[in-house]
Amino acid sequence: MNPVEEVVIVGAGPVGFLAALGLARSGIPVTLLEAGAAIMESPRASIYFPTTVKVLDQLGVLDDALEIGLKNLFFSFRVLETGEVVMVDTTTSMPPDEPYPYNLHFGQHLLAAIVMKHLVRLPGARVLFNQKVVGLQQDASAVTLDVDAPEGRVQFRARWVVGTDGAGSTVRQLLGLPFEGHTWPDRFVATNVRYPFGDYGFAPANMVADPVNWAVVARLGRENLWRVTYGEDATLPEDEVQRRIPDHYRAILPSMDEGYEVIASSPYRVHERCVPDFRIGRVLLAGDAAHVCNPCGGMGLTSGVIDARALAQVLSAVMHGRAEESLLDFYSAERRRVYHEVTSPVATEFKRRLSEKDPVQREADARMFRAIVENPKAAPQSASLSAQIEGRPMPV
Ligand SMILES: Cc1cc2nc3c(=O)[nH]c(=O)nc-3n(C[C@H](O)[C@H](O)[C@H](O)COP(=O)(O)OP(=O)(O)OC[C@H]3O[C@@H](n4cnc5c(N)ncnc54)[C@H](O)[C@@H]3O)c2cc1C
Repeated sequence: MNPVEEVVIVGAGPVGFLAALGLARSGIPVTLLEAGAAIMESPRASIYFPTTVKVLDQLGVLDDALEIGLKNLFFSFRVLETGEVVMVDTTTSMPPDEPYPYNLHFGQHLLAAIVMKHLVRLPGARVLFNQKVVGLQQDASAVTLDVDAPEGRVQFRARWVVGTDGAGSTVRQLLGLPFEGHTWPDRFVATNVRYPFGDYGFAPANMVADPVNWAVVARLGRENLWRVTYGEDATLPEDEVQRRIPDHYRAILPSMDEGYEVIASSPYRVHERCVPDFRIGRVLLAGDAAHVCNPCGGMGLTSGVIDARALAQVLSAVMHGRAEESLLDFYSAERRRVYHEVTSPVATEFKRRLSEKDPVQREADARMFRAIVENPKAAPQSASLSAQIEGRPMPV
């Protein structure tokens, strides 16, 4: 058995890395265990809203993010049937003193890599790959983790454990926590493609509304690589999903003349689920391990990043003796409230707008975006959504 650690974080995704960096910067030794041999590189989230940019700045990694990311101010709402395009300048809904008046685009694996670079420089911080957590027991003073490592089964003992091991979280399952909510009946297909969307007037972020061929089209960063995400029948076998990609592209792409190159594709099931408690004794959960939502509004990682900041704040305050352990329950209740009252409803509304079947409602959605363009002062203020996603500040 290794000596007792202060904090072990399970899962080196962006949320685990950011929580680890927050703790390490406050002087807490932290060990991050990752099942994979390296940072997971599969194509996933790639757009960071001002709330995330703010956290990156607070943690001292924003300069690195700005060096590789694409700054974006524009978003378009497109109605596939009529060809209508409403181009929205997102700064019109921001207050004049917004310190981060842009979104940043780059892959989440790059974010994890940036944070790791900063983390491993700090005293007491380490990242261990090929360490799969398979067992968990806790008593009044510490938590014991059973871990499958290259040398065989090993154990880690830590005063506190944080589960950031993603939607299929082993830590959540070992705690016996239910993942309450529902799974959407349709399957999503995320494809990365080279195609000149910019030449056809696409913004770096676009919603294509259609009852069948809805899509989210987003540029993945500075290079001309785009993510096209669309819906597919959940009953189809995976090879059939792959075979049908050209059919969907024919419907979604503005022209097939130039051809396109699919670089990666990944079908996945989409859920709206949350645990009843983000804390069980000495174990805390954050990010996808605690809550998941459909990706249409980019809310998943956005709220996970706020979890990471909040968790680092409260756990560090408790460990430094500046707060009672009950503060951890405040973290749990508040982040759960934000999921149920903000994150999941907002994501669900984005999904509805994309695939709205009622033409009257679809027109009302387009009218709302048109109104923002015609009268920016009347636009719903993004600052208020940001404040809602951030939730109540942790009282530390
Ligand atoms: C195909 C796809 C597309 C997506 N697109 C978007 C999008 O466009 N916008 C958006 O906002 N969100 C999107 N998401 C969701 C987004 O990727 C997640 O919200 C985000 O990854 C959550 O980060 P996380 O750090 O909580 O978990 P993860 O990134 O899932 O990281 C969890 C880590 O834990 C590790 N792990 C798992 N089990 C163990 C174990 N037992 N022991 C040790 N380590 C373990 C994993 O290997 C992984 O590295 C997408 C998801 C998928 C699958």
